[in-house]
Amino acid sequence: MKKKVAVIGAGPAGITAAYQLAKQGYEPQVFEAEDNVGGMAKSFKLWDQIVDLGPHRFFSNERRINALWLEVVGKDFSMVNRLTRIFYKGKFFFYPLKPFNALSRLGIFEAFLCGLSYCVALLSSKGDHRTFESWVTKRFGARLYKIFFKTYSEKLWGIPCTELDSDFASQRIKNLSLFGAIWNALTQGRGNKHKTLIDQFAYPHGGSGTVYVKMKDAIEECGGKVHLSTPVQKVITDGKVVQGLILDNGETLTFDHVISTMPLTRLVKNLDKPPVAVAQSLEKLQFRNTVLVYLEVAGTQLFPDNWLYIHSGDIMTGRITNFRNWTSDLCAGSENTILCLEYWCNKPDQMWADSEEQLIELAKVDLEKTGLTRRAPIKRGHVVKIPSSYPVYKVGYKEHLKVVTDYIDQFSGLTPIGRYGSFKYNNQDHSILMGILAAENIASDKNHNLWNINTDDGYQEEATITETGLTNSMEPAGASH
Ligand SMILES: Cc1cc2nc3c(=O)[nH]c(=O)nc-3n(C[C@H](O)[C@H](O)[C@H](O)COP(=O)(O)OP(=O)(O)OC[C@H]3O[C@@H](n4cnc5c(N)ncnc54)[C@H](O)[C@@H]3O)c2cc1C
Repeated sequence: MKKKVAVIGAGPAGITAAYQLAKQGYEPQVFEAEDNVGGMAKSFKLWDQIVDLGPHRFFSNERRINALWLEVVGKDFSMVNRLTRIFYKGKFFFYPLKPFNALSRLGIFEAFLCGLSYCVALLSSKGDHRTFESWVTKRFGARLYKIFFKTYSEKLWGIPCTELDSDFASQRIKNLSLFGAIWNALTQGRGNKHKTLIDQFAYPHGGSGTVYVKMKDAIEECGGKVHLSTPVQKVITDGKVVQGLILDNGETLTFDHVISTMPLTRLVKNLDKPPVAVAQSLEKLQFRNTVLVYLEVAGTQLFPDNWLYIHSGDIMTGRITNFRNWTSDLCAGSENTILCLEYWCNKPDQMWADSEEQLIELAKVDLEKTGLTRRAPIKRGHVVKIPSSYPVYKVGYKEHLKVVTDYIDQFSGLTPIGRYGSFKYNNQDHSILMGILAAENIASDKNHNLWNINTDDGYQEEATITETGLTNSMEPAGASH
C-alpha cells in the first residue's frame, strides 16, 4: 500500500513534490488556497498580455532540477538574453557589476575613492562579517557597498543592513569580490563559474507559471488531484504523529504524510500547543510583503532591460520589470508594454493599506522620475499585493529558526518545504529541489536533510539548460532574486 500523501500549496515546491510522487504511483492530494497553481511563480493574463509576479528568471546549474524542468517544459522554451542594470542617480550600471563600466560611470574622482576604500577593506581585518554590511564591505569596500548594495537592500528588507544577516549576501552574491569581478571582466567570463555572472536563461513560453500548470495536468493524469481555492487551516497530530489536516471549510481529512509549503510560522502555531520557547521563536521570524504595480505604457521600445534595479534613494520602487524583453509570445503583438514596479513593506506600513489608485499614482510618479519612458502615455494600472513574500534574515534569525526546526523534526509524517514553508530565501530552483528531495524521502525511503537546501549550494554535477537542452557545464551559473 502506498502512503496517502497530502501537499499544502501548489507553488513550485509543493507541486514538484506531488508531481514526483504521482509519477511513482502515489495519488497525492494537493490543497491550494488560490484559484491557480504556481504560487509566487505563477503567470497570468493582464490586458491581453501575459505577465509574471515581477521578474521570474529560472536558473540552476543542478542537473536534477534542470532535467526535471526540461522533462516538464519539453521544447516549449526560449533562451532569453539577460540584460539587467542598476539605475543610480540617473546613470545605468550593469548588474552583475562590470568593474570597468561601474568605475567609468562613477567618474574618475569617485572611482579613485572607491578603489581606495576597497584597499582599506582588503587590509582591514575588522569585523566578524556576520552582517550584510560587513560581508559586502569586506569584498567591495565601503564606498561601492554604499552605492550598489545599501539603498536597494534597505528598500527590500526594511531594516538597516547592519541588522541584516550575511546569509542574504552569501546565498545570493556567493564568493564574488571586486577582484573576482575584475578578473571576470578581463577574461570575459572564461572558466568562471560564478553564480552571479550569467547572461542567458531559459524561459518557458507562456510565462514562468506554465511549468507548474503542466505539472498539475500530469499529476491529475496519474490519479492525483489538485484542489484549488481550498485553503488548509491546520495539520492534525496524535502526539508527534501526523494524522491529516483540517481545511478552512472545517472538513477533516486523514493522511499518512503531509508536505507543507504554507508559511512555517502559521503551520507551527496551529499545531497542538507548541512549547512556549517555540512560540517565542516563531514571533521573531518575520516576513516582508511585496506590492506590485503593473502599468500599461504606450509603445514597444521603452528600454532594453529584462528588469532594472532602482538604487536611487529618491525613487521608492526597487525594481522595474519590462515584460516586452522576455519572450515575444508574452506581448501577443500588442502595441503597449507592461512594466511592473516592485515595492516592499511590512503589514503595519501605510503602503500595505493604500488603495489601488494611490499605488498606481505612486508608480507613475516613480516612473516619471526615472525618465525611462520619455513621457510615453500610461494607459492604466493594476496592483497585486503579495503577503509574506520574503523571509527576513534579521541577525539572530538562525537561532530562532533552529528552535522551530528542532521542534518540527520531532513529528513523523510532516515535511515542511519551500520559501514560505521552510523560511528560506528560495528561488524557484531551490523550491523545486526541495520538492524532488521531499518526494524521494517518502517514495524511496531516503533521509535527505531538507533544511540544508539553499544554505550551502555545493552542487555536485553542474549542468545548464541551453538552446538544445541540458549541457554539462563549465559555463557561468546564476543567482539573484
Ligand atoms: C517579486 C518576486 C520575484 C521573484 N523572482 C524570481 C526569479 O527571478 N527567479 C526565481 O527562480 N524565483 C524568483 N522568485 C521566487 C519564487 O517566486 C519562489 O522561489 C517560488 O515561488 C517559491 O515556491 P514555493 O512553492 O516554495 O512557495 P510559493 O510560490 O509561495 O507557493 C506556496 C503556495 O502555498 C499556498 N498556500 C499558502 N498557505 C496555504 C494554506 N494554508 N493552504 C493552502 N495553500 C496555501 C500559496 O497560495 C502558494 O500557492 C521571485 C519572487 C518574488 C516575490
